[in-house]
Amino acid sequence: MKTPKCDKCSKKASITLEYGPHHYCEVHFTKFFDNRVKKTIRKYNLFKPGEKLLVAVSGGKDSLVVLHLIHKYYSQSNEIEVLIIDEGVAGYRNKAIKVAKDKCLQKKIKYKVIYFEKEFGVTNDEIMPLLKQNPKLGGTCAFCGTMRRNIMNKYAKKVKADKLITGHNLDDEVQSFVMNVFNNDFSRLIRTGARAGIIEHTGFVKRIKPLYETPEKEIIAYCAFNDIEHYSQECCPYSWSAKRNEFREMLNNFENRFPGTLFSVLRFNEKLKDNLKVSANQKKEFSKRLKECSKCSEPTEKTFCNTCELIIKLKDEKKKTKKTKPKVVTKKYNKKLTCATTKYNK
Ligand code: AMP
Ligand code: ZN
Ligand code: ZN
Repeated sequence: MKTPKCDKCSKKASITLEYGPHHYCEVHFTKFFDNRVKKTIRKYNLFKPGEKLLVAVSGGKDSLVVLHLIHKYYSQSNEIEVLIIDEGVAGYRNKAIKVAKDKCLQKKIKYKVIYFEKEFGVTNDEIMPLLKQNPKLGGTCAFCGTMRRNIMNKYAKKVKADKLITGHNLDDEVQSFVMNVFNNDFSRLIRTGARAGIIEHTGFVKRIKPLYETPEKEIIAYCAFNDIEHYSQECCPYSWSAKRNEFREMLNNFENRFPGTLFSVLRFNEKLKDNLKVSANQKKEFSKRLKECSKCSEPTEKTFCNTCELIIKLKDEKKKTKKTKPKVVTKKYNKKLTCATTKYNK
C-alpha cells in the first residue's frame, strides 16, 4: 500500500491515527499531540500560571512525556518539582528511577526520591509474597497504588504544591471506567476524571492528568519521534496478576477493530458524570466527615486511613508467616498483556 502524505505538509506520513483518520509527519504529529495536551489543560482548568506543580515520575513513558511537556510549555509560568517513589522491586525499579533522575538532572529540575521501605517499613518485594499467601488482603496493584498515593499527597503538602501531576493516559482512564462498571463500583466511578476526586479539602492536593485525552499508542510514538528516553524493557513484575491487563487487552481489541472506541467511552463517562454532578452540599458533608488518620495524619473518615489500615494488616500477616514457611513469588515479566503489547515500531 502507498504511504499516505501528511495532512499538513507534502512529506510522507510517519503515523496514521485511524480514528480520524489523520496522517502526520513527525513534526506535525508532535504539534497535534502538544496542542491536544494544552487543550486538555485549558478545558479542564487543570492548573493556572503561578501554581506550584509536583510531577510524579516513575521513569516510564507516560510520566516522562508529561514532564517533557510541562517543562517545555510551563516552566516559565509555573514552579516545577518532581517526585519519584521507590517501591522496592529489585532489578526493576532501580533502573526506571535512574532514567527519571537523569531526566531531572538534564533539565535541571528539582527532584526527590521517597522509599516505601523508609516510609512504611516494607518493600514491594516483601509485600507481594504476603499477598499471595493471603489474597484477601488485596490485589497487588491496588495495594501498591494506595501506598503510592499516600506518599504523593503527603509530599505534595510538604512542598506546598498546588497540584500533583500524574501520567495517566486515555487508555488508563477508559480501563478504569469499564472496570468500575464491571465491578459495580459507583463511588469510585464518580471520583475519576482529569481532576481526580470530588471534593476540595485542604488535606488533599488535587491530582491532575494532562494526558487524560491522549491514547497510549500515541505516547509511544511521541517518545520515538522526539527521542524521549524512558524505561520500557518490562512492566512491573507484580502487575501480571492485575485484572486491569484483561481490560487493557479487551479494549485494545475493540480499538483496533473499531477505531475511536476509547474516545467514545471517555465522552460517555464525561456525560454520565455531568448528569450526576455531586451537589455542593454533598461535597461539604463529605468534607465535614473527614478527620486525621491517627497514625499518619492524612485525611480519612475512619480512625486510620486506607494506607495505614493496609500496613497494619500486612504487619499482622508478616508475624503469622514468620511461624510458617513463606511462599516464594517468582517475578514474572508478562510481555503479552502489559505495556509491551502496544510497542510502536518506528
Ligand atoms: P501506573 O499506576 O503505574 O500506571 O502509574 C500512573 C502514574 O502514577 C504514572 O504516570 C506516574 O505519574 C505515577 N507513578 C507511578 N509510579 C510511580 C513512582 N514509582 N514514582 C512516581 N510516580 C509514579
Ligand atoms: Zn507534516
Ligand atoms: Zn494513615
